[in-house]
Amino acid sequence: MKEIILVKFGEMALKGLNKHSFERTLMQQLKQRLSSLGAFIFASAQSTIYIIPQEEHIPLETAVERLTKVFGIASICRACVCEKSLDDITAKAVDYLRDTLDTAATFKVEAKRADKSFPLKSPEICRELGGELCEAFPHLRVDVHDPEVTVMADIRDTHAYVYADKLHGAGGLPLGTSGKAMLLLSGGIDSPVAGYMMAKRGISVSAIHFVSPPYTSERARLKVEQLCEKMTEYCGNMHFYCVPFTEIQEQLKRRCPEEYFTILMRRLMMCIAQEIAKREGAAALITGESVGQVASQTLQAMVCTDAVCHMPVFRPCIGLDKTEIIATARKIDTFDISIQPYEDCCTVFTPRHPKIRPRLAEIEAAQEKGDFAELVQRAVAGTECKEICMPY
Ligand code: ATP
Ligand code: MG
Repeated sequence: MKEIILVKFGEMALKGLNKHSFERTLMQQLKQRLSSLGAFIFASAQSTIYIIPQEEHIPLETAVERLTKVFGIASICRACVCEKSLDDITAKAVDYLRDTLDTAATFKVEAKRADKSFPLKSPEICRELGGELCEAFPHLRVDVHDPEVTVMADIRDTHAYVYADKLHGAGGLPLGTSGKAMLLLSGGIDSPVAGYMMAKRGISVSAIHFVSPPYTSERARLKVEQLCEKMTEYCGNMHFYCVPFTEIQEQLKRRCPEEYFTILMRRLMMCIAQEIAKREGAAALITGESVGQVASQTLQAMVCTDAVCHMPVFRPCIGLDKTEIIATARKIDTFDISIQPYEDCCTVFTPRHPKIRPRLAEIEAAQEKGDFAELVQRAVAGTECKEICMPY
């Protein structure tokens, strides 16, 4: 039996005139995700993309699994290809859906007839096919209101398709259709989740990470690269920038009051991230901050951080509890990497008694003492970029 994959658009189906550019972007991403599995034809009609395998033995299970991580998709179905006759549709439905229908108690049939020349109208297809299925599976009852299984018969130009299971897509908008932003990626739980959330809204994400060797180890940096690699399954190939932050932190320690370390560090990170973002063509920054989570994430601290920012700072985790962030981290499979115990540059220089409600004037005065302008430029110049690619 020949199978195909049907991919239904999410929210982008509503996008009026821009719809075609969204669709093109999505199509490119689908092709990129599946290219290593074999040859497919991609065709699009009525807010659905038809993915037709061109070779035997292509693992459709794997294809579907990859497609569940592509933003812009509402649902994904594997369907059986039928001749455009009721006889063939019925015979294939009985065969193809046997396991599903054997274990279900109730069902209904829905038909869609894009080819209006097909001799039966949709309600007739439902009645005929429904009747045949009841005969083939005598234990089945029809329930049009709340069926366990909905059998779909979709009549198109060249073929008809029959399917029952529908998987949820990743939702959101296709990557890149909302521009590009720079994610401040630590080794923690929150920032990968923040990157995922913005990518879901169609933002193409690049990542920047600050290291302080020898206070932070090579292993800690590798952990962050590993996080980045995991994120590529949703975010596509990513540029990963690694910033040498040791000199700045040593200067901070030498010259600035300890209670302000974290906020000054955060401000300096923002300054550097913005420079790199400009080069990367990114128009905003993303962080994993959540209000009140730690001393540097109070409202007053964020006011002090934002004072050095001239691009928008997106903080999609801002209103989430840790448990909610963790649930998403588990879903996108970054949690187990994030909890590996390697020191971050922030933890190494954490003050014993951080200022929880800093005022901007004090922070600015403290930063003056450090005279950081040249060190910031040195850190920017020493930043290395690497492309992290999808594992397939
Ligand atoms: P996370 O779990 O993302 O590390 P956190 O709760 O540990 O967050 P902080 O350590 O205060 O919070 O960091 C707040 C945000 O600052 C992070 O979400 C991240 O966006 C950014 N950040 C912190 N440390 C680094 C770093 N070494 N490199 C890049 N970004 C960082
Ligand atoms: Mg952290």
